[in-house]
Amino acid sequence: MADAQAIRSPAQHTQELGLDQYRIQQEPYYRSVADEVELYEAAYSVRMPMMLKGPTGCGKTRFVEYMAWRLGKPLITVACNEDMTASDLVGRFLLDANGTRWQDGPLAVAARHGAICYLDEVVEARQDTTVVIHPLTDARRVLPLEKKGEIIEAHPDFQVVISYNPGYQSLMKDLKQSTKQRFGALDFDYPEHDIEAEIVAHESGVNLEAAKNLVHIGERARNLKGHGLDEGLSTRMLIYAGSLIASGIDPRAACRVALVRPITDDPDMRDALDSAVTTYF
Ligand code: ADP
Repeated sequence: MADAQAIRSPAQHTQELGLDQYRIQQEPYYRSVADEVELYEAAYSVRMPMMLKGPTGCGKTRFVEYMAWRLGKPLITVACNEDMTASDLVGRFLLDANGTRWQDGPLAVAARHGAICYLDEVVEARQDTTVVIHPLTDARRVLPLEKKGEIIEAHPDFQVVISYNPGYQSLMKDLKQSTKQRFGALDFDYPEHDIEAEIVAHESGVNLEAAKNLVHIGERARNLKGHGLDEGLSTRMLIYAGSLIASGIDPRAACRVALVRPITDDPDMRDALDSAVTTYF
């Protein structure tokens, strides 16, 4: 006879493991930049849905991981994309050897068991997908599973957090007002010079002096946003460059690979950024 473990589907197994797999065991490194920790705690205490706004790679995901750890709540993260359907969030019937079986999606698991559900880059999802969070983000705090004929009353610990990059906003891709107005919002941006250098040094292992130089290069590039660059160099990119330098790569080559080449294909812009690099390394 087959081992019972072996015939369980991975999805079923995940459900049986419960929320423990979503608990953050170790304190994530997060360097607070203003009063965001305090404000988020206040928002969580009244279970206000939160929107973290800011450019890519500036610390939003790290912040929510840190807050989930600090509050002792499990965190379920969903990377949103345009092919995502409401069923991907809410759940669906699956066919297995025993017939059909309902499987909760990540939003339903979070609502049922009391996790923080983080919808990363929510603007990437189609608006008809995004509306499934509406009944969970107002006074009702329910999630109707229409196909299953069940209404989940959200667990008292449940909270929805979304991230949103205002830079990508366009007429085609934006959140409906009716979605936006369900959330409190915190603004994120690249941290101020010394704090960003501290983060880059901590995360990459590069020395503080080199980290400061990387931040200078980042700031130069950010000034070119809207003048040939669509987005500024993110803290994440500076950390990549720092990691290469810390592993022994020549700083100029590290910056070329981790900063300049990924962000632009324009030869003039590459020259401008390369010369910013040579100013500091
Ligand atoms: P986002 O979610 O905004 O795209 P992330 O949270 O993934 O960005 O940030 C990218 C990286 O930058 C993180 O992995 C982390 O190493 C670093 N980082 C950015 N801001 C901070 C901060 N305030 N404290 C600690 N690390 C940070």
